[in-house]
Amino acid sequence: MKKGQKSIRGGIEDFLCPFTDMYISQGSNGAYSHKGIMANDVRGLQAGIRYPYYAPCKVKCLKIYSESGQTMWQSVNKVRFANGRIDYATFMTVHDDSLDAKVGQIVEQGNQLGNMGTKGNATGVHCHIEISQSNDTSWTKNQYGIYHFNNEYDLDDCYFVDNTNIIKGNGGNWKTTDKVPVNPTPTPVGADQLLYPGSKVKFDGVFKVDILKRNSNLFGCCELTGVTYNDYYNERAKTYHWLPLDDFTEVDRYGSTKGQDDVVTGGQSYVINKNIYEVKEIDIKSNSAKINLNGKDIWVYSTYLYEVSNN
Ligand SMILES: [Zn+2]
Repeated sequence: MKKGQKSIRGGIEDFLCPFTDMYISQGSNGAYSHKGIMANDVRGLQAGIRYPYYAPCKVKCLKIYSESGQTMWQSVNKVRFANGRIDYATFMTVHDDSLDAKVGQIVEQGNQLGNMGTKGNATGVHCHIEISQSNDTSWTKNQYGIYHFNNEYDLDDCYFVDNTNIIKGNGGNWKTTDKVPVNPTPTPVGADQLLYPGSKVKFDGVFKVDILKRNSNLFGCCELTGVTYNDYYNERAKTYHWLPLDDFTEVDRYGSTKGQDDVVTGGQSYVINKNIYEVKEIDIKSNSAKINLNGKDIWVYSTYLYEVSNN
């Protein structure tokens, strides 16, 4: 990551690689001092320089071990790891000579956490980092006498390397956030959703037959089309505001077919339509959608259409 970088998708922070440049001088299970643990020693672009590193997510300082320039951090919220897991992160950074973290301190994602260094038992300037994908803070010795967390993961399963320059990656399968897509929030199904050409829609509601066109199978519905009764009556309504009756069924005003004779009367009858239509065009200004009803293009208010699954 770079300084100040943030990455939040679907309301969850991506756990970012804290380093701008990553040169791994000792990897997981390294024979020297990482035996049986999943830690990396990371130096920067040039050896010997105390480069800063940054908060991979919003973190809280839980513990300080000043003799080794060491801090235990924990994510404030659950985060998304590079292996797709969503959980708390608890991690250790070690060897910061100029350690100034305080227990309880909160550091926002992208802000500086510390500097690479040599404090403690370090060979050359680096940051020792190891990460647990849990909120378990136990820090115990393994069978080789080396401290470690429970639930440690290899670091290529932990952090995303967006904007990290990998100089020596130790053969890790380093991932950027685009390799772990986040499912978009499902679109709510409702009459207020944004329609587009190709949307499959159904009529939403019970509609009054305000006027019936003599000798044709067309009716006017003021509510659905926004045309006034007078304009229908005086033949001022556009042809696309007259609706073919074919797909509509007579109901009472509450939508029940009980007791209906399916003989529609202008100014009295109510109808429903249960078919699915495809939106051909959208007019944002009038909030209308064009659909084809029985071979006739008509414009109706989008408000009275609701989108259904395309399948
Ligand atoms: Zn180390």
